[in-house]
Amino acid sequence: MRYPQKANFKPMPKPFPPCPFQKLSPSQLKRDDRFFMQLAYNQALEAWHLGEVPIGAVIVHEGTVIASAHNRVEASKDPTAHAEILAITQAAHALGDWRLNGTRLYVTKEPCPMCSGATVMSRIDTVIYGVKDPKMGCMGGAYPVQELPQLNHKVKTLPGIFEEECHELLQTFFALKRAN
Ligand SMILES: [Zn+2]
Repeated sequence: MRYPQKANFKPMPKPFPPCPFQKLSPSQLKRDDRFFMQLAYNQALEAWHLGEVPIGAVIVHEGTVIASAHNRVEASKDPTAHAEILAITQAAHALGDWRLNGTRLYVTKEPCPMCSGATVMSRIDTVIYGVKDPKMGCMGGAYPVQELPQLNHKVKTLPGIFEEECHELLQTFFALKRAN
């Protein structure tokens, strides 16, 4: 017996608010932490344009960007598709090694438990982040996973770089989404 085909009960995805922020063009002359964080910020804007929570990340090795990614959880329907995880995978491919010693990860928001763990497991040298996350951040905000006493690899952290802009971006995104 043939059953009638089930109707697609999936709700239409809600429209997401247009992004009111412009991409940045930081000067190449000063390739400091703020410079690289602005590249991560631009990645976050791309996430917004695709209807994702705007979080972006880049990984730098010897002054060169070897990975840049943004949150893709919605598009890939994958809860692990956070900016940091995607960037870590890219960086490992770029270096041909899962050990990312000597690299610096820039991310617009403090990494969640999963991503904080991944920075330890991939032996990233330093994690630089914009906004602290007192709820879910596991690099100091809610809990400092990098300070577990038994860890062989200690990830250094540098919070608060380009913080105001990263904070405003996330805050505006969620405010507009709620208003929608
Ligand atoms: Zn994460």
